Amino acid sequence: MKTKTVKNIRVIVDKCNGCRACEVICSAFHAQPRYSSNNPDRSRIRVIHEPLRNIFVPIYAGEYTPAECAGRNTYTIDGKDYDECAFCRAACPSRGLFKEPDSGLPLSCDMCESDPTLTKPKCVEWCLNDALIYETREEPVLEDEVGRQQELQQGLAALVDKHGMKDLLDIVARMSSRD
Ligand code: SF4
Ligand code: SF4
Repeated sequence: MKTKTVKNIRVIVDKCNGCRACEVICSAFHAQPRYSSNNPDRSRIRVIHEPLRNIFVPIYAGEYTPAECAGRNTYTIDGKDYDECAFCRAACPSRGLFKEPDSGLPLSCDMCESDPTLTKPKCVEWCLNDALIYETREEPVLEDEVGRQQELQQGLAALVDKHGMKDLLDIVARMSSRD
């Protein structure tokens, strides 16, 4: 059976002290050119920060949603009150998180996959308090997903035959640098 690797960052809220190193390194890693600047507003991980209530919740960006949800609950965990939004990973219209400041386009965590030499995401590496734990697991790939992958592989092979691997990689690099 074919499997795929699912990547995840487990957040241990109690260990986060709000230092925001994760925001700095994420934005610097994704700057163009890489490490040329840092701006936490461009980070794909943000820390919900309420020092007076001793609340620090790091969340990394998930999917974009065009509509805000109706969830307005408050959760009490270990004596601390958290808004429902504190744990939501969506870039959504009702808050400013996870939007590129110049364009307003949504930002999404890519697990730092643009650098295949990394053994763990940059935010995990830079969190000295071990509040972020990188985890992977293998999951079976569904039959239609296998079919899609084969189709993609055949399509890419045809493009490589026609244009050459170098041109194809150059185009992919240009496309990925747009985010
Ligand atoms: S680097 Fe770690 S401790 Fe610092 S804000 Fe991010 S998650 Fe929290
Ligand atoms: S895994 Fe990479 S892209 Fe995702 S939040 Fe962490 S540093 Fe940013």
